[in-house]
Parts: sequence; structure tokens; C-alpha cells
Amino acid sequence: MKKADIFEFYRRLAELNPDPRTELEYGNDYQLLVAVVLSAQATDVGVNKATRALFRAVKTPAQMVALGEEGLKEHIKTIGLFNAKAKNVIALSQILERDFGGEVPRDRDTLTTLPGVGRKTANVVMNTAFGAETFAVDTHIFRVGNRTGLAPGKDVLAVEKRLEKDTPAPFRRDAHHWLILHGRYICKARKPECWRCPVADLCRYKPKTPAPAA
Ligand code: SF4
Repeated sequence: MKKADIFEFYRRLAELNPDPRTELEYGNDYQLLVAVVLSAQATDVGVNKATRALFRAVKTPAQMVALGEEGLKEHIKTIGLFNAKAKNVIALSQILERDFGGEVPRDRDTLTTLPGVGRKTANVVMNTAFGAETFAVDTHIFRVGNRTGLAPGKDVLAVEKRLEKDTPAPFRRDAHHWLILHGRYICKARKPECWRCPVADLCRYKPKTPAPAA
């Protein structure tokens, strides 16, 4: 996609949603990190249902360690892969408490050393908690980037690198939120809703989905 079109693509998404936010619910940086770890291969809605009660009781790594793995499992057993996630959350909480004074480190490479924290999770935390210009490429962004021509790449890292290189300055911090929301609600996996898409004229995907018959 041409530079001017990339700018216009983001400009329109930004105009429609000037202050995009993650749909995960959290009260502090630590809770955000936990919510993102829990959201792997799960929906934000499902994670929020489980974390509402959990986050009322647990606000710090020390409180999570005190709750323990079995106690945590009780809270998150409706979320996929909850056994492995509980183990990781307890282990990362122990490390935060022991090595980082209970704080979430503001560094992507350090974050990825924590159990259950991959590059995507670290990018989300860096962006959402600390305002870093990181691009957390999930399934939605991977699809939108390739389908539209905005940021084509053969794997998530390639798409991330392309976004890093091509995203214009005013939109870098919020780009990943706009793209996730665009992919989740309009440029859907099975049937993109092209007839109501604000960037249809910029997107190279063909054929566009026509409006459903009235
Ligand atoms: S026109 Fe269709 S394929 Fe292109 S971005 Fe919009 S919804 Fe997605």
C-alpha cells in the first residue's frame, strides 16, 4: 500500500475511534500483564468474566502468590488452557516479587523472560501500560495486514516489522488497537463486512463482500 494510503487508512480509523482501548479489564499494570497472559487463545470477554472477582481480591504479585495455584485455578477454570496459565501466572508473580520489587518491568526483553510471556504479550503490555510504540500482532492484525495490503508478511514477526517500518508517526502508539478492533468487528475472518468498512477504497482485498440483501 502507498504511503499516503497507509496514512489515510489510520486517519479514518482514528477519526472514528480517537481513543482506542484494550477490551481487557484491569486496574493496574500487574493486572494487565496477568489478563494478557490469560487471554492467549481465549476471548477478552471470557477473560473479563473470570478476572472480575479475581482482581477484586488480587492486586499485587504477592497477593497472587498467597492465593496459590489451586486458588487461582478456581477463578480461571472457565478459560482455555487454565492449568498451564495458572502455573505461569504464579511463577511470574513469584519472579516479580523476588526480582523486581513487585513491579512490572518496563522492558520488552525482560518481560519475555517471564513464564508465559511471549513477544506478543510483552508488546501489548509495553504499549498499553507504558505507551510504547510496539505492535502486538495477533490473529486479527495478521489477517488485516495481509488482506488489505497495509502490512503484508508471511508470519507475525514479518507483519510486526512491517508495521514498525511503515506506520506513520501520529498513529504508532494506537495502531495495534485500531487494527485489532477493525479485524474483530469489521474485517472479520470468515466474512469481512466490506460494505460498511471505512477503508474499503484503500484496501486491495478482492472481491469485496457486498451488502446483505435487505
Ligand atoms: S474492505 Fe473488506 S477486506 Fe478490506 S479492510 Fe474493509 S472489511 Fe477488510
